[in-house]
Amino acid sequence: MNAKTWMRLPWQETIWSRLRPDQGSSHHAFLLTGPEGIGKQRLGRALAAAFLCMHPKQDASACGECESCMWLHAGNHPDFRWLTTPARMQEQGAEDETGTTESEESVPEKRASEQIGIDSVRGLAAFFSLTTHRGGPRVLLIEPAEALNMAAANALLKTLEEPPAGTRFILVSSYARRLPATILSRCLNVSVPLPSLPEAKSWLEEEGVSSPDSLLTQAAGRPFRALALADADQQQARREFMDQLSKLEHDPYGISEKANRDNVALWTDWMQCWCYDLLAKKHNAPIRFNPEHAMRLKALASRLDLGRLLDWEKKLRIARYQSHQPVNPRLFCDDLLNDYCAVLQ
Ligand SMILES: [Zn+2]
Repeated sequence: MNAKTWMRLPWQETIWSRLRPDQGSSHHAFLLTGPEGIGKQRLGRALAAAFLCMHPKQDASACGECESCMWLHAGNHPDFRWLTTPARMQEQGAEDETGTTESEESVPEKRASEQIGIDSVRGLAAFFSLTTHRGGPRVLLIEPAEALNMAAANALLKTLEEPPAGTRFILVSSYARRLPATILSRCLNVSVPLPSLPEAKSWLEEEGVSSPDSLLTQAAGRPFRALALADADQQQARREFMDQLSKLEHDPYGISEKANRDNVALWTDWMQCWCYDLLAKKHNAPIRFNPEHAMRLKALASRLDLGRLLDWEKKLRIARYQSHQPVNPRLFCDDLLNDYCAVLQ
């Protein structure tokens, strides 16, 4: 993991002034919340690095050069653990402990891989009980925290209530309301801000994105989502999906049969954007996400049933969370698209 991934982002300066370790915060557990794709993980990592750094900078951020920072960058700091799902570990190119390859249809196996289970929490016993390097702090980053299943959350609770001296917990979650109240009540809730449009644009340009405006529109202002969309294949996939969706009237099987684990969350997001634009047209407000389909959106909005559209919007909001859970992608998308067809009848 490169050094940059341990640094906070330009739009996180104000929130940093609240979190910086030298401010003497009495909290030992932080819950960083906010929408997906705004850089919560980066802030969590920057905070972890700052806690562990041996020679922090004047603004209390990690120096990036000391022994501790080097260990973090190399992924082998003895006093740092990242508690996450096996699926996320795999994504990050880390070693997958299960060593199994899951097919998209193997829902039970997928369920195991997208949760943080009790064994992972139990596996931290030595981490919590051993003396830390030079008697310094130890940091546990839990991300995504909502992936903790009930047994794992309960197992973690005791350590969260009575942590060994110098232990800091950093929980990162896009769906904090899914966390048990017992966990929530023991954390300092930190709402991570979205960047302003100029901040997001300038960051994307630095990341090498040549036309950030339309991507930021598609991503509802969330810069990491926009960065993911910048990929040419991703843009092509989006165009194809939106074209198909714009023509869909009934029987969505032609679309849903192509759903898989890799696109189910994106498709749900894109359906939500389509729904938003339909609602906007229905209320004579400007459309936001699909200007290239303005005529079609107008035609559809003039004849669809508002009540059914609102029902679909509500279902999509729930589906957005579910799309990151173990679902059968084809059935999941087929269901959402069938509901869309019902909106048009
Ligand atoms: Zn350092």
